[in-house]
Amino acid sequence: MTLDGEGLSAAETLSKTRTFGKVRCHNPSCMERIQPPAGADHAKCPTCGSEYRLFWVRPDLPRIRGPVWDVNRKIAKETFARKEEAKAQKDSKKGGK
Ligand SMILES: [Zn+2]
Repeated sequence: MTLDGEGLSAAETLSKTRTFGKVRCHNPSCMERIQPPAGADHAKCPTCGSEYRLFWVRPDLPRIRGPVWDVNRKIAKETFARKEEAKAQKDSKKGGK
């Protein structure tokens, strides 16, 4: 028997398998499911930290309207900076003959 530890009723379990109320992270390297609070106007991915603006097709059916650029750009910039830093370290090692 599998328990997810949330103590859901049968009805809640059923609605959960239909994935209502969830959106999928638009980060191609993440694709995590995000479950925003009902009526929230944006949601943050718990896995990669990207933030998305939401609209609600129905009270139980959110859709991603678009990314929150400020947040996602900052994440991309930090990732890029880390990569550049790693590259610079590699280059300096290579350069020291
Ligand atoms: Zn994500």
